[in-house]
Amino acid sequence: MAAAQAETRHKVVVIGSGFGGLFGTKALRKAPVDVTMVAKTTHHLFQPLLYQVATGILSEGEIAPPTREVLSSQRNAQVLLGEVTDIDLEARTVTSHVLGRQTVSHYDSLIVAAGATQSYFGNDHFSEHAPGMKSIDDALELRGRIFGAFEMAELGANRGDNIDHLLTFVVVGAGPTGVEMAGQIAELAHRTLRRDFRAINTRSARVILVDAAPQVLPPFGAKLGARAQRELEELGVEVLLGAMVTDLDERGLEVKYKDGRSERIRAVTKIWAAGVQASPLARTLSEQTGAPLDRAGRIAVNPDLTLPGHPEVFVVGDMISLDNLPGVAQVAIQGAKYAAKEIRNRLEGKAPQPPFKYFDKGSMAIISRFNAVAMVGKLRLTGVIAWLMWLAVHLVYITGFKNRVTAVLHWFISFLGRGRSERTTTEQQIFARAALARLRRGATDLVSQPGAYDAARQLLEETRRQELEAAALEEARLTDSGERGVHADQR
Ligand SMILES: Cc1cc2nc3c(=O)[nH]c(=O)nc-3n(C[C@H](O)[C@H](O)[C@H](O)COP(=O)(O)OP(=O)(O)OC[C@H]3O[C@@H](n4cnc5c(N)ncnc54)[C@H](O)[C@@H]3O)c2cc1C
Repeated sequence: MAAAQAETRHKVVVIGSGFGGLFGTKALRKAPVDVTMVAKTTHHLFQPLLYQVATGILSEGEIAPPTREVLSSQRNAQVLLGEVTDIDLEARTVTSHVLGRQTVSHYDSLIVAAGATQSYFGNDHFSEHAPGMKSIDDALELRGRIFGAFEMAELGANRGDNIDHLLTFVVVGAGPTGVEMAGQIAELAHRTLRRDFRAINTRSARVILVDAAPQVLPPFGAKLGARAQRELEELGVEVLLGAMVTDLDERGLEVKYKDGRSERIRAVTKIWAAGVQASPLARTLSEQTGAPLDRAGRIAVNPDLTLPGHPEVFVVGDMISLDNLPGVAQVAIQGAKYAAKEIRNRLEGKAPQPPFKYFDKGSMAIISRFNAVAMVGKLRLTGVIAWLMWLAVHLVYITGFKNRVTAVLHWFISFLGRGRSERTTTEQQIFARAALARLRRGATDLVSQPGAYDAARQLLEETRRQELEAAALEEARLTDSGERGVHADQR
């Protein structure tokens, strides 16, 4: 009976475990549906704090709790690991892959919340030497590269080499992520690391923030942007505006200014915080529905977040183009909750909701400790007040009680003290991404295909069993015969 009920229950598939995916799944907690969340990582990621992982303030676990644990008490939800490679709107199926294993999930309703990736504006080869800031892998790689650059500079200084390119850090993109990243690298150089090295003066490091736009933090308006720029410059960050990156390699980058001048900046560490591109799944959906994509690859959705001709498919968050909504967490959270409510309403025979309306709760960016800029409605805040607000908001939204407790502890260490609790870096962090990219099929090349593994394991098991049996018989014989410890010619 229970099995039959489960068979007939409405099936919702949610793609993504970010803000849209997780909040959408949670909002269906009490609905008479079975939810399958398919995501390509096993964690939910609090992206706004990635820069703190990259600069050693927080650990990756604090901003990326396992989705399975977060949803463990939600009985109607299951989590599936896999990268969605296809959505068939006619057949109502979602196909996902992980390490060569394919899963096909059927749905009655679908919520697509696959977010966005880094955009290099057509220069994808830049990514090899300028990681973006989109995932835990990115943040850990950057942590390794930033702290590693200081180490290499110390070695170089001991040998008498020129180390300017090692102590120059370039952040491309002066939006909130770029500003926060540049501010934190400056704090590392000027406060955290200043007593840790012998051959170099970390305070001589150059931190350069580059953007083609004429101002810092354009979405915050001219006044807050100018204030943020001033504060950054006081921290020692060089701000280069109207400067477009035209080339980038292992040892540096070329920038071209509005007046036609070009400059080469020698810098080993480059961080790309400049553009976003919606998940390629937006294109998959566009091809099947005719819904247009904008320049950032975001798909146009109906006012109720559904796709034309497919009221059962909702798209939310960074993937959508609707009323110039910004790519921020609250758009994804509120959109996902709206979609979940619509699914519930339909099952309960209630009237549809009015079109989706975003409620803007404000934006903020931290510049350095005790210093931030914030916009809430018409209110513009700066300095300590904005920073305290930032602290409160981020504490509320970090997922999980224990993560909140340890994040506060780490913030105390970094903001009141001089330290960073998470400075550990490994070779894997720095080199794994480039090494995997050199494999034909990435990580899939490192594991056996299903079936091949089973056959190999059976063979291995049989041989190993024979070896283990022979070794055990010999051990027992040696003990029983009294031969242990007796020299061969005395036996
Ligand atoms: C560094 C950084 C700082 C930010 N700071 C702020 C901030 O301060 N305030 C703010 O409001 N917003 C901020 N944002 C933006 C905010 O994080 C996004 O707007 C928000 O995450 C969008 O939510 P989403 O659910 O659409 O996508 P995401 O949260 O990105 O989630 C996408 C999910 O889909 C999964 N996924 C992607 N492709 C596939 C696939 N093919 N198959 C399966 N799963 C897939 C991903 O693994 C992920 O789980 C920041 C973003 C970044 C990168």
